[in-house]
Amino acid sequence: MSVQPLSERLRRLIDANGPIPVPVYMAEANAHYYATRDPLGLAGDFTTAPEISQMFGELVGLWLADLWQRSGAGPAAYVELGPGRGTLAADALRAMRGAGLMPDVHFVETSPVLRDAQRQRHPDAQWHDSLATLPTGTPLLVVANEFFDALPIRQLVRTEAGWHERLVTVAEGGFAPMPGPRVPAAALPASAPPGTIVETSPASLAIARQLAARLIAQGGAALIVDYGHTEPSAGETLQAVSAHAYADPWSEPGERDLTAHVDFAALAASVEGLTVHGPVGQGEWLEAMGISVRAEALAHAAPERATEIDTARRRLTEPDQMGTLFKALAFTAPNWPLPAGFPS
Ligand code: SAH
Repeated sequence: MSVQPLSERLRRLIDANGPIPVPVYMAEANAHYYATRDPLGLAGDFTTAPEISQMFGELVGLWLADLWQRSGAGPAAYVELGPGRGTLAADALRAMRGAGLMPDVHFVETSPVLRDAQRQRHPDAQWHDSLATLPTGTPLLVVANEFFDALPIRQLVRTEAGWHERLVTVAEGGFAPMPGPRVPAAALPASAPPGTIVETSPASLAIARQLAARLIAQGGAALIVDYGHTEPSAGETLQAVSAHAYADPWSEPGERDLTAHVDFAALAASVEGLTVHGPVGQGEWLEAMGISVRAEALAHAAPERATEIDTARRRLTEPDQMGTLFKALAFTAPNWPLPAGFPS
């Protein structure tokens, strides 16, 4: 049986039913993309912080272990959203074990290919399609690195006539966006010039709200690290990456990684009942968590790797690399202590 390429399926869908909303396009494209490959690393399309250095996952693990210890909580569950190759979890769980925390491991992951990769390193983990089936009754220690940027966004576009839902239609060489039905403009900037785009991610906010409900009921904390902006801002950020280079998001859906800036302010505003910490730059957070000390210790133990370790530290922390575009945002349950690494 030959597998019909996603482009072909979407083209038929649009021919039959008309243009599709941007979140449908993005959800279909990313579901196909992640289901059919491991995109991480040099040979893939992009590299993430945990794949750059073990220091990233270790400091995440220490952050969770410290918070858990000071909370006085009993057994807890480690939950990771979109764990990729399981690298972050491996480094974090090792650091947690060192601090006396040995949680059950739960992964929210939809890609069968990446589930296989995760199973190699975490044979005892439990997998979930969504947050709905996560365990109840124990505090949750939740981590999501470069997860929210892959969730579908909605785009609204301004024309002379007003604000419209942006749709995706068939065009030469692939697909193209077009203005669709008018939408109420109540929450949208009144004076935006035609062509202005505003993005929202209802899927991200729905997940954040689910997280909030769980943390309020069960206790725990969540650490979200991703690239994006602190204040809501107009402008298109949807992008495609293929083989470590930018590509056209409107062609070859399902063959390129589609992401958009995370709107940290919107995430923070959606978790009523939790305490919000940050966002702070990834570099600032890692420095506050002691990445320089950790890098020195690693280099001391393996002098032949000193340059590689220092390069990784700089890549993760420096402002012109991942240090400021990437940000850390944390949520803690009511009555949980203040987390390390965030200005209080
Ligand atoms: N956190 C990893 C991988 C980031 S790539 C790292 O930092 O290296 C995005 C991850 O989210 C992948 O594991 C992908 O399969 C997963 N993912 C994307 N959309 C998802 C969805 N809707 N539900 C669950 N997992 C999803």
